[in-house]
Amino acid sequence: MDPVNTVLSNLKNILPTSSVLTGTAAAPYLADTLRPSWSYEGIDEPDVAAQNLFVVLPQTTEEVAEVVRMAFEHRIPVVPYGSGTGLMGGAAPIRGGIVIDMKRMDRVLEISKEDMWAKAEAGIVLGNLNTALGAVGLILGHDPWTQPAATLGGAISTNGLGYLGYKYGSMGQQVLGLEAVLPNGQILTTSSVPQASSGLPLKRLFIGTEGVFGIITRATIRAFPAPQCRRLLGYRFDSFELGFGAVQQLFFAGLEPSLLDFGEEYPHLSSVEGQGVETQHVASLLEVIVYLGFEGLEEHVNVTCEKADRVCRDWGSIEVSKGEVDAFWDNRHWHGDRSGWSQTPSILTDYVHVALPPSKVPSYRDSAVRIIREKGVHLREFGLWNQPSLFSVVVQASSSEKAKLSQCIDALLTMARDMEGSIEYCHGVGLRISRHMEHEMGVAGMELLRSIKSAVDPYNIMNPGKWGL
Ligand SMILES: Cc1cc2nc3c(=O)[nH]c(=O)nc-3n(C[C@H](O)[C@H](O)[C@H](O)COP(=O)(O)OP(=O)(O)OC[C@H]3O[C@@H](n4cnc5c(N)ncnc54)[C@H](O)[C@@H]3O)c2cc1C
Repeated sequence: MDPVNTVLSNLKNILPTSSVLTGTAAAPYLADTLRPSWSYEGIDEPDVAAQNLFVVLPQTTEEVAEVVRMAFEHRIPVVPYGSGTGLMGGAAPIRGGIVIDMKRMDRVLEISKEDMWAKAEAGIVLGNLNTALGAVGLILGHDPWTQPAATLGGAISTNGLGYLGYKYGSMGQQVLGLEAVLPNGQILTTSSVPQASSGLPLKRLFIGTEGVFGIITRATIRAFPAPQCRRLLGYRFDSFELGFGAVQQLFFAGLEPSLLDFGEEYPHLSSVEGQGVETQHVASLLEVIVYLGFEGLEEHVNVTCEKADRVCRDWGSIEVSKGEVDAFWDNRHWHGDRSGWSQTPSILTDYVHVALPPSKVPSYRDSAVRIIREKGVHLREFGLWNQPSLFSVVVQASSSEKAKLSQCIDALLTMARDMEGSIEYCHGVGLRISRHMEHEMGVAGMELLRSIKSAVDPYNIMNPGKWGL
């Protein structure tokens, strides 16, 4: 039997035939949401036949482990796949092999109000877990844009962040414990406590590591009491500096919003096409708008909102109508055109989401303006999310100027690390920014990372090619 048929028959010995996909049925798994239309150069339209791709849909941890053991024995790449909403190419099977789609492992195993936790399988969609928690007066806390689609395993593996991340933490911070299948097929289970001082917390090996060390099959997640009260506010400022000043003062005053969404918006490239990039940037600021949310006990929320309102007004803002604020909140999931994200063939859009010491955000922004002008691309948006240190830049270029856009992204990422920051705060690295891993980690860091990878995954079968590994 040829190697391809051997793998197929091995998989069909482990799983029912209906749980093994090949050919055109496997094609949708060739990519996540990273597309060639971004500034990323490395992904061409992938070809399923060329990849010898198999997709499996296991229903139990033991099935996952058996598939991985077989892959380990035959040195076949294995790629964990949640919902494929990832933006970095993390779930793309670039070396072919076996994609393990976790979606059929979507059971809630236990919800304990007393322990304020949920135990669930990794393939559960976040929104479904949140609904299950709601039945006992708890919430998930992690509330990303893609909550209706992304899985628990995908969110842990990218250490994702949601709209309410400052209050409830990133997805990784919510993980109390987990179960994972290692590259040799062994099953690891960690304890499920919020605090331990008993050596290296092995759960960390799977948080924000995009499936390069193993496959998460179950997790125990901290849950939170549903807030008695949530109030949302919105303010327009005349400039980034005024808005940033207000936000910093909120945090200095200990007001700590559960929601912070700050956007400094410029027109979408198509609406100003033909004008000089510099003119667009300087002349056509659309708006600076800050959405804030506070939640918890009603009395506390009311007092905090009053104080936040005073701070924002002191910095010269005008309050946004309740209807506009409510629309922002109600449309936060899948509001795909908010920043001109939708890709048109003639216009490329790309972004960075960097983490910086808050004091360096204003100078990073100023230098970003300089870089954007130098590279000749179009500024679409600057933003802050969750807290003053998490900064994003959205840039655009016409499709004939992809190289300029890539150079701009590279310069923005390099500058973030040079300013003691990090190249990404919630989407992972995947393929899209893997060329920056050496700079992010440093020489010693990258060597250590490679040593850990080869100790855990000696044949590099687990999601190979990601992070440059
Ligand atoms: C329009 C849009 C908005 C978005 N907004 C947000 C946002 O607000 N916040 C945010 O954090 N992200 C956001 N994302 C990115 C994406 O939704 C998240 O990264 C999400 O958590 C990925 O989950 P997934 O189930 O789709 O994972 P996938 O895309 O399938 O996989 C992501 C990575 O995790 C690995 N993986 C998946 N499951 C497992 C597992 N069980 N074990 C080990 N590794 C695994 C994959 O191999 C891959 O490397 C957005 C994406 C889009 C398209």
